[in-house]
Amino acid sequence: MSGSTIAFAGARIDRADAVRSDPAALEALMDWRARLLKLDGLDPEIGPDGGLVWGTLADADPASEIVFLGLLDGRGHFAEVQPKVGGSVAPANPRLWQAMAAMESEDLAIYGAARSLIDWHARHRFCAKSGHPTKLTKGGWQRSCSDAGCGAEHFPRVDPVTIMLVEHGGQLLLGRQPRFPARRFSALAGFIEPGESVEEAVAREIFEEAGVRVRDVSYVASQPWPFPSSLMIGCHSHTDDPALTIDTNELDEARWFTRAEVAEAMATGAAGGEGAAFIAPPRHAVAHHLLKWWLEQ
Ligand SMILES: [Zn+2]
Repeated sequence: MSGSTIAFAGARIDRADAVRSDPAALEALMDWRARLLKLDGLDPEIGPDGGLVWGTLADADPASEIVFLGLLDGRGHFAEVQPKVGGSVAPANPRLWQAMAAMESEDLAIYGAARSLIDWHARHRFCAKSGHPTKLTKGGWQRSCSDAGCGAEHFPRVDPVTIMLVEHGGQLLLGRQPRFPARRFSALAGFIEPGESVEEAVAREIFEEAGVRVRDVSYVASQPWPFPSSLMIGCHSHTDDPALTIDTNELDEARWFTRAEVAEAMATGAAGGEGAAFIAPPRHAVAHHLLKWWLEQ
């Protein structure tokens, strides 16, 4: 994972939407030149160079459903939804993180998209409206109910999550979730709920978790996060009242950090060490890019 690229973003692959809805064009791409991403369920096979491994469609389990990832170098790129895959909403395990950390950003982006898509297929084999089996359509970017009377169409979901910096008097509010390693602090985050704008979700989450009212919410950067299908929307905001009321169900701790503390933690983290005031979020997290962005302001 490159330090400057946002992990899981930036794939060169052409998603070729027109091909998805053109069965003849899709069929024509499923030839001997087509590449099939080698996966074990949701986990990637890793080559000797640390990169993804590609085979041909002949390698696919005949019982698998095939999804079209897109076009790269004029060739169709595909992945399979193996019948044994049940879907997972769990975060990545340490072995997978180790593999992903060694990948080029391009491979990581392709893998993240494939994982999220396959995971969605594995968890949506039945129609949420009628309960009938669904079948893969549009090259894997849709599932359609098999019951003609129902006809429901289902689309791969993306779950928007806000992750936000709060600033007051040149200091930043960061928090510690219970699952974090000791001394790790990061930006507060939470899922956007139905009926909310991004700005409203930012304000609600910060008030719920830290008791702080914010203003002037602005967008900074985003990151697809395939565990299983989040889109992290990184924002910045200000508050006029820094008094904290922490929701201890969500956070172990939240604190204000000075610019010098954040700069030291980021610089020490980049050198592989642990910051004096706190341990900064890792490079693959969008929070890392938010802190970097803030220091550059
Ligand atoms: Zn249905």
